[in-house]
Amino acid sequence: SREIRLASRPVGVPAAANFELATRELPAPGPGEVLVENKWMSVDPYMRGRMYDRPSYVPPFAIGEALQGGALGVVTASNSDALKVGDVVSSMFGWREAFVAPAAALQKLDVPPGVPLQAFLGVLGMPGLTAWAGLTQIGKPKPGDTVFVSGAAGAVGSIVAQVAKLKGCTVVASAGSDDKCDWLRSLGIDHVINYRTCGNLLAAVQAAAPKGIDVYFDNVGGEHLEVAIEVARPFARLVECGMIASYNDTEPTPGPRNIIQVVGKSLTMRGFIVIEFQGLQAEFAAEVGSWIASGQLKWQDTVMEGIENAPAAFIGLFEGKNTGKMVVKL
Ligand code: NDP
Repeated sequence: SREIRLASRPVGVPAAANFELATRELPAPGPGEVLVENKWMSVDPYMRGRMYDRPSYVPPFAIGEALQGGALGVVTASNSDALKVGDVVSSMFGWREAFVAPAAALQKLDVPPGVPLQAFLGVLGMPGLTAWAGLTQIGKPKPGDTVFVSGAAGAVGSIVAQVAKLKGCTVVASAGSDDKCDWLRSLGIDHVINYRTCGNLLAAVQAAAPKGIDVYFDNVGGEHLEVAIEVARPFARLVECGMIASYNDTEPTPGPRNIIQVVGKSLTMRGFIVIEFQGLQAEFAAEVGSWIASGQLKWQDTVMEGIENAPAAFIGLFEGKNTGKMVVKL
């Protein structure tokens, strides 16, 4: 079975040479273990953080070892009463074609009819929960509020934008290509800005939201965050989900130059890691599941094929190659 190992720690933007395709002989499953063939694996921006050797909320990846991440697969041999051959499982054993693990380390999935399996890496998985929980629990949007979301055509952002609409808000969204912006408009998003071509992001957001914004859902950091602080109304909530614009920085990034406005405007800036909201999984699945079933919530995948293309898929996240969730089909 083939797997992708971390060959070296990236400096700046990750490159193909930081990854290594290797083959591993898999043992037969021991007592309580199963053999799983992965069908889909996820690449996510947070994995860049695990490539630094530093303490964090998840331990760093080790050089010379297979990377880890979300994956969906099928049990092909079982030595456990908990799982049988043919069961579909979700795991953190991504970046490899197959693996042997204790059944207790895996989560059995019931895939509803009509829902493609890979949705459990996106809209119905970790990014979906991140979007839904971050927006509802921290952003606390009220009907009539104006919500600004960056990275809006990505896995998290595209769900945030749509959930904010479903909650009765006016939505200003930014993304990095005209195709992405067209998709967001087709979803009914009120104001869509191509931040690469708009010239002046602050002016574009001010034009879209002349009375300011009540919620900013930050996927990007950098200039977007500064703009959000500038246009925030008193008591606005800034949901700090991610700052991908800085993940490859080799020097500490200067903070928003207008941070002082947090005081005068009584802003709330609150970061989070999705694990905090794991307890809301059932509520999330019920609400988002019903919007999917009724056709009110849409999603897209960008699919790369083959384990050998997993590094390119990951690197592509930093080049905006994906619309919706970037996934690798194995
Ligand atoms: P996306 O699907 O949004 O993919 C990443 C996107 O980021 C790219 O497609 C690109 O879109 C955009 N991007 C890349 N580089 C830059 C840049 N320099 N400036 C602006 N935009 C850039 O990824 P996810 O939806 O999985 O993640 C979105 C954010 O949410 C990330 O910051 C991630 O770290 C964070 N996150 C946080 C979690 C938490 O628990 N707090 C959990 C999951 C994700 P474009 O073409 O528009 O530039």
